[in-house]
Amino acid sequence: MTEVVQATYLKDAFVRDLLFKHYEYLERFVLGVPFPPYEVELQPSSRCNISCRWCMGAVSCSAGGGFLSDNITPSVMAEIVESLLAVEIGGLVIKTFRFAGFTGEPLVRGDITLSAIETLTSAGRTVGLFTNGTLMSRATWETLSRMSYVHVSLDAGRDSYQLLKGGSRKMFDRVLENIEGLRKYRDACARGVELHVGFVVCPENIGELSHVIQTARSVGVDSVFVKCDVTGRLGDSVSLVFDTIEAACEAYNSPEFAVQAVHSRRDHVAMAAGPCYPKEACHYQKLFGTIAPDGKMYPCDYNAMRCGQVIGDARSFALGWVRSHYSGGKKAGPLPCVSAFCPPIASAMNAFLQNVELAVNWHGSDVVLACLKGFANGMQL
Ligand code: SF4
Repeated sequence: MTEVVQATYLKDAFVRDLLFKHYEYLERFVLGVPFPPYEVELQPSSRCNISCRWCMGAVSCSAGGGFLSDNITPSVMAEIVESLLAVEIGGLVIKTFRFAGFTGEPLVRGDITLSAIETLTSAGRTVGLFTNGTLMSRATWETLSRMSYVHVSLDAGRDSYQLLKGGSRKMFDRVLENIEGLRKYRDACARGVELHVGFVVCPENIGELSHVIQTARSVGVDSVFVKCDVTGRLGDSVSLVFDTIEAACEAYNSPEFAVQAVHSRRDHVAMAAGPCYPKEACHYQKLFGTIAPDGKMYPCDYNAMRCGQVIGDARSFALGWVRSHYSGGKKAGPLPCVSAFCPPIASAMNAFLQNVELAVNWHGSDVVLACLKGFANGMQL
């Protein structure tokens, strides 16, 4: 089993994190006993101030899913955060939080987003933000500089920004000024927030990738994450896109400035074969929680749509979580899923966990845990 884990799964950063950083959650998964998600995504709003061409949420909702309404008032957000901080199941808490959106930009609701970030960081939790970067004004820097990371989805160069994101060149310049401003503030206050930029490569922006990477480095970004459109719309450009991504990683990745590919050619082939991981084998939803703009919990971030299954009210998170995933103290099957696509992190995680579950069925939990533990300890030496 060790060889299989090493050869197949350890290339994936999310699986590595599960084994080496969140092992206690994996242990309880193997034992089939209740545990909380190690990470929760909070989506403060369904609305966005720009319109990206490949926005997965907008595509899913427009195809029939329907957008959720924004129901989180400041007092509701305060109750949700209190409920999340109080979660403790089997001695485990929710370790990390991310503010993001399936269809919306978190800083469109800057009031509730920033105050929730302040409460969670003050409580010592790990907190990250996914944003388009357009609303990161000077007024946000103090709060954002206290986070673990801020990920700005740039996804275009100056020339393609309007075509792909619906914003002007001036807006593109402003995003870079905002990143640089936050970086200078962070350095002046000796804070540790990591600054990330995301770039989804497609035929319209492929020629700008190198320039965007160099610009990101010049304004003080720490890491650039390069993705490709994995929904099958690349057509004949697949090879060119992956060749370009690999060349960029080779040329610019260094210990001081990371340039990493999020998707592999293997991911693209897997997505083309069938977009959504077999729903009946989904375990991702036990490790990651999602709170949508209506203040309800959903099986995963890609299910935050009007037609999605509501697990419970986020103001009583632990209750809803245990009721949904465990019935009568026993683990329940996966929750109904309405999404045609899985989040990028989910496919690798599900493939790994499905095989862990098979191994438990064949060999028993003691053998599997001994194997995983020995493996994790060995790798950490
Ligand atoms: S879309 Fe979400 S809930 Fe559905 S199978 Fe994928 S990870 Fe699981």
